[in-house]
Amino acid sequence: MLDIATIRKDFPILQREVNGKPLVYLDNAATSQTPQQVIDVIVDYYHNYNANIHRGVHSLSQEATDAYEAARQKVQQHFNAKHPEEIIFTSGTTHGINMIANGFASMLKAGDDVIVSALEHHSNIVPWQMLCEKTGATLKVIPMNLEGELVLSEYDNLLTENTKLVFVNHISNALGTINPIDTIIKKAHEVGAAVLVDGAQACPHIKPDVQALDVDFYVASAHKMCGPTGVGMLYGKKEWLTLLPPYQGGGEMISEVTFEKTTYADLPHKFEAGTPNVAGGIAFGAAIDYMNSIGFQAIADYENNLLEYATSELLSIDGLTIYGTSDQKTSVISFNLDGIHPYDVGTLLDKMGIAVRTGHHCAQPIMDFYKIPGTIRASFSFYNTKEEIDRFVEGVKKAKLMLS
Ligand SMILES: *Cc1c(COP(=O)(O)O)cnc(C)c1O
Repeated sequence: MLDIATIRKDFPILQREVNGKPLVYLDNAATSQTPQQVIDVIVDYYHNYNANIHRGVHSLSQEATDAYEAARQKVQQHFNAKHPEEIIFTSGTTHGINMIANGFASMLKAGDDVIVSALEHHSNIVPWQMLCEKTGATLKVIPMNLEGELVLSEYDNLLTENTKLVFVNHISNALGTINPIDTIIKKAHEVGAAVLVDGAQACPHIKPDVQALDVDFYVASAHKMCGPTGVGMLYGKKEWLTLLPPYQGGGEMISEVTFEKTTYADLPHKFEAGTPNVAGGIAFGAAIDYMNSIGFQAIADYENNLLEYATSELLSIDGLTIYGTSDQKTSVISFNLDGIHPYDVGTLLDKMGIAVRTGHHCAQPIMDFYKIPGTIRASFSFYNTKEEIDRFVEGVKKAKLMLS
């Protein structure tokens, strides 16, 4: 069992008030809060060894390089990648997806298919549309059902020998559905297609094993798993990363440069042009350590309890509809109140110190499917409490009274 009172002391922001009320932070699917242990690592970097990495002979540069590469190994171990150079530091999930979409531009042609799922975040739709426009490949979509699950029998129909790439998120940020990515990956490989999994929403809740999944590419953002903003990781199988062209040209990513020809650096540097977010990478490693010190099984068990409790409390409110009712989901609840705009509910909740997200959650196609403009989304983390859920449910009831 988690000692939540002690855990909450690690997060300075959870002690603050918003609009005169103690903060209830339920927007964890947008970004998680940062524990002191991670903040300390960032401060320590700027206090003691801020330097550019990989190119200095001086001690600070060496210390910074060592810390950055140690963080890469932490990420490697966490995701169980075979080699450290299969981990590319990025600015986040969106960056990682664009790197792969760009890399495949030279490999696709008219007649090829790219499959995405109906449950995608915009960052996992737009880059593929751009890729298909550039190459003439066709974009196909795995449809979803009313529970917010992908319809796998339709996926079977879409897969052919023309399928070159499949993109799917591990967990939907808008609904919380956990997608059956092992089956999706296996079936894609049967027709020779590569698979990229967007793990941005999964990594705060579970510890993915990229080798066991046999996934070709996996991307995540540090800021959704207790790390800082502006840093993330792209995992790619070594064979793929060797094959794909680099995304950006610049310093760090070259082996030799003349005006006639440039040869690229070895992995992972080929994909890491320019000065990276050094402090961010190191802090990402610290965030992974922090989450593992709490333990992913304990996190999942605790969050599932919160999810069950909040779901049944919310459903006791007349006229409240929850979107995304799969029995395979994480601690995200998307809902609406009959005849009330989600934005108005969100605004009133904020007045009570309660932070939720309202809108389409960067997943407009899902909202179109349900024929709604958006939802109110509450997403819970391991540092949230039952008392906070009580305050939230009270707040929703109050907002309903005021708005109907
Ligand atoms: C948050 C999120 C993204 C985008 O992550 P960034 O850190 O903004 O790049 C992509 N996909 C999913 C499922 C997300 O939840």
